[in-house]
Amino acid sequence: MIRDKLSRKFEYLRISITDKCNYRCSYCMPSDVFGSNHKFLKKDELLSYEEIIYIARELKHFGLRKIRLTGGEPMLRKNIQLLIGKLKNEAGIEEVHMTCNGSLLSKENIRELKRSGLDSITISLDSISKHIGKKLNPTHTDNKKVIDNIYHVLDHYGTLKLNSVIIKNINEQEIIPIVNQFKNDNVNIRFIEYMDVGESNNWDKDKVITSNQIKKIISQKYSIQQEPTIKSSTSEKWILNNYAATLGFISSISKPFCNDCNRGRLSADGKFYTCLFSTFGHDLSNHIRNQDREMLRLFFQNIWSSRIDQYSKLRSIANHPSNNASKIEMSYIGG
Ligand code: SAM
Ligand code: SF4
Ligand code: SF4
Repeated sequence: MIRDKLSRKFEYLRISITDKCNYRCSYCMPSDVFGSNHKFLKKDELLSYEEIIYIARELKHFGLRKIRLTGGEPMLRKNIQLLIGKLKNEAGIEEVHMTCNGSLLSKENIRELKRSGLDSITISLDSISKHIGKKLNPTHTDNKKVIDNIYHVLDHYGTLKLNSVIIKNINEQEIIPIVNQFKNDNVNIRFIEYMDVGESNNWDKDKVITSNQIKKIISQKYSIQQEPTIKSSTSEKWILNNYAATLGFISSISKPFCNDCNRGRLSADGKFYTCLFSTFGHDLSNHIRNQDREMLRLFFQNIWSSRIDQYSKLRSIANHPSNNASKIEMSYIGG
């Protein structure tokens, strides 16, 4: 077990297994920036599955017990079920989860993912309407397929988390349709405040709809009630009275949760980031590739024990130096 300078444990690793995506969501990979000239990582720069398993096994030594596979779009990596099986059975990671955009799932691959030991699937969906979906993401053509896949995941897993990013004047009118669609299902519908990640999404705080504003919109139609929140959870849980679905609110902008942040992030090419808003990553790839266990452990021990990140908490302080630093893209660092 290891603690950082603010006494926060390291328990959770989010791994971006590819920086590529078949979507171009405007808040993450806008198509004018991530166009045909954008240089994605080359195949030989990506960590192999064996290398990811090696690092997971080593970081378990420091308290790692939960991994989330993300990206980019994680379902673009071939045979992801082999990685999941080995993370659970060889590296001994207690929980392995995945966040994906739902477009590349099918009844068959969901069954395989479950069989390999994947503990849960989170799907991102920001609108029910195809027309509004297009405004957020010009490559998003098939909401129906994603919605069908949400039901296939429910068939296999019994439950699912849904992520919806809400942006002012773009998709706030989709809040109620999303709740209407899934209210009778065992879905945790999580509304995420639009965040200032990366440098390419033209973020502006006036485009943020806060969790409180979203709650107000929902409570005009539904009766909702707050539940106690688990420490270290990024999401505030609410009950939708009389329905099966629950609500979650991820308030990175209006109510930061840095005090309990127990997570690190690994990019697809092996750089470790101590915060979603880090300006640089610690390159673990040499230690992984040389299988230099002692050096890797020493290196990681130094990184985590000197960690002081609290970006979301400090961003509201006017003129704080972190506000001007250049940030890493979410698709690279793993959302
Ligand atoms: N492609 C997968 C997906 O969309 O689920 C996994 C990677 S994506 C970067 C992970 C999550 O980050 C998604 O739920 C997405 O909505 C969220 N995300 C990306 N950019 C964001 C932003 N600027 N603000 C808030 N959430 C964001
Ligand atoms: Fe792709 Fe996910 Fe980013 Fe959308 S949010 S562009 S689906 S990585
Ligand atoms: Fe953790 Fe950084 Fe997000 Fe704060 S801003 S919760 S430290 S990832």
